[in-house]
Amino acid sequence: MIQIKNSLQIAAMKEAGRITGEALLVAREHIKEGVSTKQLDTVIRHHIERCGGKPSFLGLYGFPGSACISINDEVIHGIPSDQRILREGDIVKIDVGAFYKGYHGDSARTFPVGRVSEEAAALIAATKQSFYEGVAAFKLGNRVGDIGHAIDSYIAGCGFSVVRRYVGHGIGRSVHEAPDVPNYGTPGRGPRFMEGMVLAIEPMVNAGALEVREMPDGWTVKTADGHLSAHYENTVALTADGVLNLTEVEVGE
Ligand code: MG
Ligand code: MG
Repeated sequence: MIQIKNSLQIAAMKEAGRITGEALLVAREHIKEGVSTKQLDTVIRHHIERCGGKPSFLGLYGFPGSACISINDEVIHGIPSDQRILREGDIVKIDVGAFYKGYHGDSARTFPVGRVSEEAAALIAATKQSFYEGVAAFKLGNRVGDIGHAIDSYIAGCGFSVVRRYVGHGIGRSVHEAPDVPNYGTPGRGPRFMEGMVLAIEPMVNAGALEVREMPDGWTVKTADGHLSAHYENTVALTADGVLNLTEVEVGE
């Protein structure tokens, strides 16, 4: 069942969202060659805890980190590790959630490490823009399929592929609530949007084909063809004043 939030609940979610967005900014400050994904995970956890929150992903379904940190052809769910070191030219996806006063925020960004290839930069930019194409479809009168269609058609026009096996979602007292929000779909299909719906819209975009596979660690998901992948996510609420971006704390990546 889709949990509709009132304005007080959305205000509370904005606090969780702010901590989530700030955690990504703090992590971005530490991104450079030689840093391990475990170090990034630690600064994220410290920020969330200093704000009085808890990392949403730590222990979620048994996940061992505070954030999912995935490099290059890793799509999502990378496990933070001392052995995973950022190198010049990498792209690193950081997906983080913060739980605060009963609600979760969920947001992801793809950051370049130093100078990256033209293809990597184009992939990052297209993935970000596809998020905004999806947000533009999150309005009264539309349905979930309209978001997916907007994202998928934009990405197809860029020559990239949307990942289908993993999807966005409703969010609130739980990280993952109804409805599923696929990054592909048919316009006019799926649950109808209502004021008070809060969604994590999160295009995952591959430079090559859409197929992905899970690694033997049981978590890390990689592109099947070894090409790059990017991710961009915010927690957004549909209000009387339009869409409120709960996890955006500055104009940036
Ligand atoms: Mg996320
Ligand atoms: Mg999410």
